[in-house]
Amino acid sequence: MCALSFDEIREDLKSRLKPTRYDHTISVMFTAASLAMCYHEDVSKALTAGLLHDCTKSLSNEEHLRLVERESAPLSDSERANEKLLHAVTGPIYARDVYGCSDPDILNAIRFHTTGRAGMSMLEKIIYIADYIEPLRQPLPNIENVRQLAFKDIDQCVAKVSAACLDYLKQINSVIEPKTIETYEYYSKKEENECQN
Ligand code: FE
Ligand code: FE
Repeated sequence: MCALSFDEIREDLKSRLKPTRYDHTISVMFTAASLAMCYHEDVSKALTAGLLHDCTKSLSNEEHLRLVERESAPLSDSERANEKLLHAVTGPIYARDVYGCSDPDILNAIRFHTTGRAGMSMLEKIIYIADYIEPLRQPLPNIENVRQLAFKDIDQCVAKVSAACLDYLKQINSVIEPKTIETYEYYSKKEENECQN
């Protein structure tokens, strides 16, 4: 899956990430593995994607932009302006170049873990949700229901989580990345259509 072994990647991340970020990473990794068991997804892929999802979180803004430029990765205005979104753009580049990770599904799961996107793969949904529900997260509104829903209906859960993210971003007057809206619209419509069937 990656040129470096799982343990080598974990050790490297442990030395590079802040302790709280490293703990969050491990927590996302095991939450993703549990969701993978629930939805018959490859457990070792979920562990690897969870381990790697925030792998560039410790880079400076200049380091992020250098990676993006070198790669000529397409960047929206909101991504350029928001450091929180940049780590999702540079994560897959770093995972590929430094850890030798070549699995496109894992790289996409890292790429879209913050905003989601329409029509995500099961692994992408698992990482998007695991990042939000992992047990070490600060208590969020309605989190118990969201956690239960994650293991019952992951699409409905993506609709709920993306709605909560949009509410939060509006509340703090933050720039909203179009992909966040796209995720909400796609998964809330999906939920409506399924209710009508
Ligand atoms: Fe992240
Ligand atoms: Fe995260």
